[in-house]
Amino acid sequence: MIIVLKSGVSQREVMEFSEWIEKNNNNIKVNAWYGEHSTVLGLLGDTESVDIEAIAAQRIVESVKRIQEPYKKANRKFHPDDTVIDLGGGSVIGGGCLALIAGPCSVESEEQITSVAVDVKEAGAAFLRGGAFKPRTSPYSFQGLRASGLELLRQARAKTGLPIVTEIMSPNHLVLFEDVDIIQVGARNMQNFELLKELGKVDKPILLKRGLANTIEELLMSAEYIMAAGNERVILCERGIRTFETMTRNTLDISAIPLLKSLSHLPVVVDPSHASGMSSLVEPLALAAVAAGADGLIIEVHNDPPHALSDGAQSITPEQFKKLSARIKEIAPMFGKNVTTREQAVNKQ
Ligand code: PEP
Ligand code: MN
Repeated sequence: MIIVLKSGVSQREVMEFSEWIEKNNNNIKVNAWYGEHSTVLGLLGDTESVDIEAIAAQRIVESVKRIQEPYKKANRKFHPDDTVIDLGGGSVIGGGCLALIAGPCSVESEEQITSVAVDVKEAGAAFLRGGAFKPRTSPYSFQGLRASGLELLRQARAKTGLPIVTEIMSPNHLVLFEDVDIIQVGARNMQNFELLKELGKVDKPILLKRGLANTIEELLMSAEYIMAAGNERVILCERGIRTFETMTRNTLDISAIPLLKSLSHLPVVVDPSHASGMSSLVEPLALAAVAAGADGLIIEVHNDPPHALSDGAQSITPEQFKKLSARIKEIAPMFGKNVTTREQAVNKQ
């Protein structure tokens, strides 16, 4: 249930009204969102027995409506303004800032991750990606450098200042991720609900990838798990879904971008690398994603794609990333976005 309050209502009145609702309705939790022009109260819990007319009759209430969608905290009706993830120094996702997250599929060596980090930063990336724990289809494939991969990511961050984004596969590994800036939940774990609940207790943004065969609503419900457990800093990621098409690794669901943006206030990032599986498709899909309203792109970049330990076929080189980044910077303003970089932020100070 959503209650829109009249403009000019004081914070004290909002608090008293919220307490009154919670006192009269067992198991209902009221969430207040203070916007520029209005205040919205979201009621969480079983609202079936809440007396909607009694609420509508209150002096400070503008309107009340029941919301049908099963996701509440992730719902834009609950929180009309965009959520912005700001890690400082120009690393911002959402609210008009288009973030470029780039780096290899897997962290392979100190030399590899630091050289890619330096190159992507120079080309305009605001975040460094790199997998240390890798979810591979075959148990015989490279599984990632694990804890030592995280250490190499930290070294690359120390060298470049780029915040690091890396995937977690088990709640048991959370202690190792204390120093990670954004924790990624991979497609294969989108519905690992115990993991999502644990990430809800963490004080850092979570980049949540859409599952290989999951609907948009299921993605939003997974975001809801993290938010319901207390962590509201969730970034949604469209990374392609399984279809009957076999020419590409997955099919990029472009319509998911504007749909997610209208249904939710959470930022939407697109991964054209896993969506296509082909380096030659990364640029066209990335540009299409920007045109469709994406708040960011997560792109696999490798210094030597033919010898990559994972996902070489879809990895672009630092040189290709530089060209792509320049094109994105050029077109982003046409779609109401600006690519912010750490360099710009430092120069502004
Ligand atoms: C990755 O980002 O390297 C990855 C494994 O992605 P996904 O979970 O989307 O397959
Ligand atoms: Mn990959």
